[in-house]
Amino acid sequence: MSDHSDVRTAATSDTAVDFDAIIVGAGFAGIRTLYELRERGLTALVIEAASDIGGTWFWNRYPGARTDSEAWVYAYCFSKDLMNEWNWSERYPSQPEVERYLRLVVDKFDMRKDMMLNTHIESAVFDEGSETWVVSIEGGAQIRSRFIVTGLGHLSKPYRPPFPSLESFRGEWYQTSRYPSEGVDFTGKRVAVIGTGATGVQLTPLVAETAAHVTVFQRTPNWVLPARNHPLDDAAWREIRADYDGIWQKVFSQNFALPYGSAHRVAADVSAQEQQAILEHGYEIGHFQFLFETFDDILTDETTNELVCDFLRSKIRETVKDPATAEILCPKYPLLAKRPPLGHFYYEAFNRDNVSLVDVSDNPLVDVTEGGLRTADAEYEADIIVFATGFDAVTGAYLTLDIVGRDGVHLHDKWKDGPRTNLGEMVDGFPNLFLASGPHQPFANIPAVIDRSVRWIGRAITQLLEDKQTIIEADVDAVDKWTDLMPELLARTIFAKGMGVHAWHLGSNIPGKPVVVMAYHGGANNYFAALDDEAEAGFPGFIRR
Ligand code: NAP
Repeated sequence: MSDHSDVRTAATSDTAVDFDAIIVGAGFAGIRTLYELRERGLTALVIEAASDIGGTWFWNRYPGARTDSEAWVYAYCFSKDLMNEWNWSERYPSQPEVERYLRLVVDKFDMRKDMMLNTHIESAVFDEGSETWVVSIEGGAQIRSRFIVTGLGHLSKPYRPPFPSLESFRGEWYQTSRYPSEGVDFTGKRVAVIGTGATGVQLTPLVAETAAHVTVFQRTPNWVLPARNHPLDDAAWREIRADYDGIWQKVFSQNFALPYGSAHRVAADVSAQEQQAILEHGYEIGHFQFLFETFDDILTDETTNELVCDFLRSKIRETVKDPATAEILCPKYPLLAKRPPLGHFYYEAFNRDNVSLVDVSDNPLVDVTEGGLRTADAEYEADIIVFATGFDAVTGAYLTLDIVGRDGVHLHDKWKDGPRTNLGEMVDGFPNLFLASGPHQPFANIPAVIDRSVRWIGRAITQLLEDKQTIIEADVDAVDKWTDLMPELLARTIFAKGMGVHAWHLGSNIPGKPVVVMAYHGGANNYFAALDDEAEAGFPGFIRR
C-alpha cells in the first residue's frame, strides 16, 4: 500500500483533482469498484477505516461466521483467471476463508497501492465552483476527486441496545460485528447471547461447545433453514467449472441472484400428500433452494406460505426435544417477513444440557447488571455477554458519514424520512456521487448485486467521458418515481409483513428509525434489466452536462 503522503492539507486552495475517483470502503463493493474504474482507465483511491481490507468480512469474525450463499456465487465473476484459480473448500466458506479470498483478489490485481487503510473519512463535500468532491479525512488532510463511489455495505453500522449500565458489568462483553481478532475463550464460562438473527444462529452452537452454559435471549424467533454445508472436492469443482458461465447466467436471471431455477408449480397444483413430499425433499437439500425450488408462490401467496410455515414448525418440534423450548422457537409470523438465517445445527444446540432459551418477547431485557442481565422481574448471571444484535442497516453507514451535495444539503437531512435514489445508484443534488452498494438495490445475493451495480457505474462514467461531459446527476422526477416504486413492489410480497417483526430491511429493528422500504423487492433479475435498459437508452433518468 502506498502511504499517500502527497494528500493535501485542509488549507490548500488548489482545485486540481488528486484522483478521478475516491472509493469509500475496501469490502466486496470497494474492491470490485477499483477493478472496474481501473479497467476503464480512471485513477482511483480506496479509503478504508479498518486496518485491512474485507469490509463486513473484516469486522464479523465471530465463531461460526460463514457465507449464507453458495461459495461459487458468493464471489467475483469479473475475471475468468480468478474464477479458475480459486477453489472454495466448502459450500459455505467460513469468515477466514472469505477474508483470504479477498486478500488474494487485492494482491492478484495489485490493488493495495491504490488503497489507504486505517483512514476515517469525516466528510465528503461537493465543491460547486470546481465541480469536484473534497473528502476530508481525520487529521485534516483533504483529497479531491471528480467522482465518488460508496461501497459502504448494507450491514456495516453495528447496533447495540443502549443498556445504560453496560459499563458496570464486571464480566467481558463483545459485539459480533466488532469481534476481537484474537478470539474469545468461552471455556467454562457462563455466556449470554443476545440476538437470534443470522449471526446469533451461526454463533450459538459453536460457543456451546466450550462454554459452561449458554443462555440465548430471544425476542423474535426466526425461520432457520438447514444449511447442509459440505466440503467441495475436485469433482465438485470440475462440475462447477464445466458450466461456470451458465451458473452466473442463472444468477443474473434469478429473483435473488442465486443459481437456482424455479419450481414450475405452485402449492395448489399438487395434492396435500405431494406437497409434504416436495417439502421434505426440499428440506433435505436445504439452503434458500428450499424456498425457490419447492413452490413458486411462497413469497406471494399467504396460504402457501402458511403451509410451508406449518411444515417448518413440525421440523422444529421434531428436532428440539423439550416441547416448551420448541414452542418458543416456533415463529408465529410468515416465512420471509424477515430474512431467514441458515442453521448449522442451530435447533439441535437446544438439546444440549448447557444451552437454555429465554423468551424476552413480552418481558424485554432492560439493562445489564454487575453480574449479568435483567428483565423487569428476573436477573440472569453471565461471565460474558455477546451482542449479536444486528445493524442499523442500509442507510446507517451513509448517515454516519457527512456527505454534502449541491447547495450545502447534507445527505442525512435529505434522507431523514428515508432514502431517495434513482435506481439505487444516484441521488439528485449529489452530482457524480455513485452508490456501489446502497439503498433501493435488491435484497439478494450481495456480490452479484454489487457486480451489476458497479458495472453500471462504470458504463455511466465512460459514457460521460466519451460525451466530453463532466457532471451526471439523478433527475429529481426519476428519483421520485423510483422511490415511490419501492413500497409498491414490497406490497406484492410477504416481505411486507416485516413491518411488525423488527426486520432490518425496513429499518424496523432500530428504535426511532423511520420505517421505510430500503430495498428493491421487484426481483434482482428485473433490477439488472432496469440497469441495462437505462444504460442502453442513454441514461434518461439522469441529467448530464
Ligand atoms: P439481525 O438479523 O437484525 O438480528 C439481531 C438480533 O438481535 C435479533 O434477534 C433481534 O431481535 C435481537 N435484538 C436486538 N435488540 C435486542 C434487544 N434489545 N433485546 C433482545 N434482542 C434484541 O442481525 P444479524 O443476526 O447480525 O443479521 C443481520 C443480517 O446480516 C442478516 O439478515 C443477513 O442478511 C446478514 N448476515 C449474513 C450472514 C451470512 O450471510 N452468512 C451472517 C450473519 C448476518 P428482534 O428480531 O426481535 O429484533
